[in-house]
Amino acid sequence: MTPKTPLDTLELPREFQRALQQNGLLTVGQLLRHYPRRHEDRRSFGSFPLGGSGGQALCLYGVVTDAQRRFLRGRGRSFFEATLTSPDNALTPPLILRWFNLPFIHKLLATGQHLVVYGKVKESGKRLVLDHPDYEIVEPDSPDSSLHMRRIVPIYPLKEGLKQRPLRALLARVLESLPLESLAELVPPAFQKGDILSLGQAIRGIHFPDDPEHLAQSRHRLARDEFLALQLNVLRQRARLRAHQKPSRAGPGELTRELLASLPFKLTGAQQRSVEEIRRDLASTCPMNRLLQGDVGSGKTLVALASMLYAVESGWQAALMAPTQILAEQHYLNFEQWLAPLGIRVGLRTGSKKSSDSLPLLEGGGEPQILVGTHALLWEKEAFAKLGYVVIDEQHKFGVLQRGRLTEKAEEGQHPDLLVMTATPIPRTLTLTVYGDLDVSLIDELPQGRGKIVTAVRPGTRTKEAAKFVKEHLEQDRQAYLVFPLVEESEKVSAKAATQEVESWSRLLHPHEVGLLHGRLSAEEKQATMDAFRQGRLGALVSTTVIEVGVDVPNANVMLVFDAERFGLAQLHQLRGRIGRGAHKSYCILLTGKKAGDEAAEKLAVLEDTTDGFRVAEADLELRGAGEILGTAQSGHTSGLRLGNLVSDTALVHEARALAQSILAADPDLSQPEHRLLKKAVRRVEANFS
Ligand code: ADP
Ligand code: MG
Repeated sequence: MTPKTPLDTLELPREFQRALQQNGLLTVGQLLRHYPRRHEDRRSFGSFPLGGSGGQALCLYGVVTDAQRRFLRGRGRSFFEATLTSPDNALTPPLILRWFNLPFIHKLLATGQHLVVYGKVKESGKRLVLDHPDYEIVEPDSPDSSLHMRRIVPIYPLKEGLKQRPLRALLARVLESLPLESLAELVPPAFQKGDILSLGQAIRGIHFPDDPEHLAQSRHRLARDEFLALQLNVLRQRARLRAHQKPSRAGPGELTRELLASLPFKLTGAQQRSVEEIRRDLASTCPMNRLLQGDVGSGKTLVALASMLYAVESGWQAALMAPTQILAEQHYLNFEQWLAPLGIRVGLRTGSKKSSDSLPLLEGGGEPQILVGTHALLWEKEAFAKLGYVVIDEQHKFGVLQRGRLTEKAEEGQHPDLLVMTATPIPRTLTLTVYGDLDVSLIDELPQGRGKIVTAVRPGTRTKEAAKFVKEHLEQDRQAYLVFPLVEESEKVSAKAATQEVESWSRLLHPHEVGLLHGRLSAEEKQATMDAFRQGRLGALVSTTVIEVGVDVPNANVMLVFDAERFGLAQLHQLRGRIGRGAHKSYCILLTGKKAGDEAAEKLAVLEDTTDGFRVAEADLELRGAGEILGTAQSGHTSGLRLGNLVSDTALVHEARALAQSILAADPDLSQPEHRLLKKAVRRVEANFS
């Protein structure tokens, strides 16, 4: 038997064979890489609990002493209940196992069976119940019982009719027959120094570990290889980019100094440090690829602009790309205001042609030295006559693909320096993997003199009070955002709902004017509304999440978010970042919807406690997992990781990175024969990336 041996040569029952196939398991090698989703320690079982187990799942062993279908009173619907009794202590109360809406379960479970169950125990009246536990029928006296009992047992992910016990038995058989030491190591011997386990030992240990330690080491070993492939990929990508030569693009800094001197405030230390890091990259002859990370309101725009002036001064064009038209226009207006006194020409280009007509692309003649636009800019070759520096704002909104596109463009063209900016706090592991080809600048400090933001969660029924509160602030010449969770898919309905909200809020806030902003408006309408709000002609703005990123109106200090539980924490944090930008104390009121439970309010309470984006992101991460935080566009990057966890495996990522560095130092192209498998693994990662 070898890893290439097809499973259909193993004389398995036809049905089992088919189930394996439908799970994509065709060869011995694929089977070995079908890792357990968890393990149960069945070496010895704890005694039955005397109360609920809280949030913790227990693994218990018992005998079924009763099994019955029961009916829900008056509804004609049934559920199934089995009584599990402790085999060695008849005095502990039995556990009730319950299954709802599972019509077949009564055919599977019967009195007298021995079960291992896994689940959370809760109290229901006087009884202790487990709802929908994982269970396995075991036969203590059967010949293969040593496989399923008295050991740490693998629990596999099952689909398409695959069954736990036969699969486990097959894996045991394969692991027995295959010479494990012959499994081809990804990492050649010269680099294996730190490895405690060989690949074969780790594969055995991930399925049938001797003890928890063995399991941990096995997982570590296998996940390290997964991270290694990712690291080799990003490091090579990075090396490829850095191999290019580009001209130095930093002037002496007169323009930057002039700009900074004209501002009514000083840059924070973190902003200054970031500008300097970027300046050094611009000045070098190796293309810049840098991530600028800073919480909402930390002042990334000015860092971008200050650094753009270095490039402009040395005769290059610089471009800033924003994810939305509203944001592009806002940047454009700010830049105009800041740069006009310096005699710098700024151009605006967005996807909507009309808006570029109404805001002339060129003012005062000559090519723009700084271009602001939406990502439509990406595709326009002619706008890039002498483009030397590109800044992408709110990179997470663009997704990886477009960044890839741009770097490609950079590779074929004149290698513009690239800065991507994001307010989404990214865990260190991700900056080393998904963003591993980038250098990182961090703005870890907010400008002084910001008004505090007070956040409060309130039931949505208290609209009248909220309206009164908003009105008080409007009387003091402040402004407010009223944010509704209207989704883009049903834009027509949303638009109508939003229009109705404007009417009712106009009445509530009379005589103050209320504007409307949502994704379905035309470019001109959006622009006109934002202008009116910026200039203070509108007191309040009813809006969808189109204001989520970047919008900057320092005079607005109140935000009401309706049905707040429907937003993610990170998104609410972004929304909240629209206020607290001026010197005034700000208020973010999260109103929960009618149907929201206590859980929702509890979740939202995180935002009452902190305005620190990193802490919000951590809480969000716990609630939702990495994929969602990064957005679908980026979770594709994580593919190829089956054991590795991008959020929690920090140490492993570092280990893999160091290993990748030493391998590449010896063989930058992975062209040596002993690196053949590594090269293949990297190709697979590359394929996942595109
Ligand atoms: P973000 O990092 O969220 O993109 P912005 O660049 O929009 O933040 O900056 C938020 C606000 O803070 C803007 O009004 C900007 O002019 C202002 N700002 C930027 N830097 C400073 C500073 N050092 N001191 C005071 N205000 C600043
Ligand atoms: Mg911004």
